[in-house]
Amino acid sequence: MQQIEELVNSLREEGFRITPQRIAIVEYLLKTNDHPSAEHIHKIVQKKYPMVSLSTVYKTLDLLREKKLVNEIKVEGEARFDAHTDEHINLICMNCGKIEDVDEDSLREIQTKAARKSKYMILKSNFELLGYCNNCKSKFI
Ligand SMILES: [Zn+2]
Ligand SMILES: [Zn+2]
Repeated sequence: MQQIEELVNSLREEGFRITPQRIAIVEYLLKTNDHPSAEHIHKIVQKKYPMVSLSTVYKTLDLLREKKLVNEIKVEGEARFDAHTDEHINLICMNCGKIEDVDEDSLREIQTKAARKSKYMILKSNFELLGYCNNCKSKFI
């Protein structure tokens, strides 16, 4: 898991102006497991900083994504953001849009095997499993 200082420092190194609003965006992303959308992050950060604009949220997310500090997950066309860039599985509910993390040790092994077979140098991975969450599944069986 990444630390807030680490993320903020890499933004600063990029010559990005560090404002309390931007720190609040990074902080929220690191502490939540909800894989929020930009709109959701905006709503949360606005509670503390009413002047923060949605475009600030988008710009900050764009940079974090470019630096590979957050992963973007598309759910039904909507971008959701995950600051937990350690290998894990994202379980995505196709009904309510909830995304849950599952840690799985064998992911590293899968990557090593795939790299060996293909001779690729693997830089990034994204493991997604789609279905219905525990709350929603009863509606579909
Ligand atoms: Zn669900
Ligand atoms: Zn995740």
